[in-house]
Amino acid sequence: MTHFNVCPNCSFIWQNRDQFLGDPGVEIIGYQVQFENLTAGLFLFNHSCKTTFSLEVGVFRDLYSGPVFEERATGSDTCPGHCLHQNTLDPCPAACECAFVREIITLLKH
Ligand SMILES: [Zn+2]
Repeated sequence: MTHFNVCPNCSFIWQNRDQFLGDPGVEIIGYQVQFENLTAGLFLFNHSCKTTFSLEVGVFRDLYSGPVFEERATGSDTCPGHCLHQNTLDPCPAACECAFVREIITLLKH
């Protein structure tokens, strides 16, 4: 692979991830969780050509270098349930294994 990603609609080529992350024409709009394998979850992006495409969480995993909780809080009283809602991109306050993905989302939003 010689480039980072290609838009499935307009065929725009991002040569590398830094170019992708710095592109004002790209906006993260959703997250599809894969509870069995968090890095196989999908981030959904809108491109300025009005199409939506997805990239795996694992592609951006190294953007977050902070701690990852070992336990899951999903379904507990401390879990706000954000991961169950594809369009919710808010950070998660729970001490949950899934929360680091939402930290990455916060990074991608800026
Ligand atoms: Zn496009």
